[in-house]
Amino acid sequence: MLIDSFGRIINYLRISVTDRCNLRCLYCVPLGGFPSADRPEILSYEEILLLVECFVELGVDKIRLTGGEPLIRKDLSILVRGLKNLHEIKDISLSTNGVHLAEQAEELFHAGLKRINVSLDTFDPDKFLRITGLKPHAKVLEGIEAAIRVGFYPIKINVVVLKGINDDEIASFVAFAMFHPVEIRFIELMPTRNCFLVGNDRFVSNDIIKDEVGQLAELIPEPILPGDVARGYRLGGGLGKIGFISSLTHSFCSECNRIRLRSDGILKLCLHGDETFDLRTPLRRGATKDELISLIQEAVMSKPKGHDFKGSDEDEPVTYMCQIGG
Ligand code: SAM
Repeated sequence: MLIDSFGRIINYLRISVTDRCNLRCLYCVPLGGFPSADRPEILSYEEILLLVECFVELGVDKIRLTGGEPLIRKDLSILVRGLKNLHEIKDISLSTNGVHLAEQAEELFHAGLKRINVSLDTFDPDKFLRITGLKPHAKVLEGIEAAIRVGFYPIKINVVVLKGINDDEIASFVAFAMFHPVEIRFIELMPTRNCFLVGNDRFVSNDIIKDEVGQLAELIPEPILPGDVARGYRLGGGLGKIGFISSLTHSFCSECNRIRLRSDGILKLCLHGDETFDLRTPLRRGATKDELISLIQEAVMSKPKGHDFKGSDEDEPVTYMCQIGG
């Protein structure tokens, strides 16, 4: 078992397969961009699978593929198939912005991916352009429709609500969940260093959003599963669900069961902390599986107890969501 120095059992690995993205979301990509890793620095699928085998031996049974934008990495289904062959893994999921989902949904599904999170902050193409810097709004909606048609379940739609930008669309998201078998997940805006949204003036707490949703529909609480950071609700009379991830207003560090592998092989122990551990160097120097397992155990001991949001983007550690995958 992988246990950190605070007794938390780590069974969830999030893997960023690329730090590149085809969108430029206001709250995610830093001003002026950031230096992407060079191609040779990025782990190959074989290297990722070798590391995953080590994590699996330590009890990791839940994997999420993320990015950057994972669907811009070639042949992602090869990696999904490889993960699927590791029978100890109980849960494989993917976070995507959905732009290339319609083209790849079927292939990914047949490779063994059954559940998916799609990020979509607005139904308005002009706002989509303002938030993401690019235009392919319709492609994201097509991607969600394709995921429903192919049979992905659950499908979660990640929504970051930004004051004065998309906070007037909560009713549209609730309506979408009423008529589609998806879970809309409202994620509180987290401060990240040097992002385009400097300051907290765009932040909307989930308590406010939940009040608004509660006035529009009946929220029936779902059981809370271990390690689940979202608080989920069924919608009375609806096909879908609503979830709230309240990273700022309700900290869940004490229950954190996750670690993150960056595309360049750096293990990140806390989303908002500076603690990292290089796994690529020993891997490429030919470390044995047992050596890698010991290194992972050592790395996990430096997982911090928790993090504080410092109140100002400039005080935050250099955490580029686009590099780590959220
Ligand atoms: N490209 C993929 C996607 O769009 O889902 C995966 C990477 S993206 C970084 C993962 C999630 O992180 C997205 O749902 C995005 O909205 C969220 N995210 C990025 N920056 C954030 C921030 N500052 N606060 C809250 N959520 C953020």
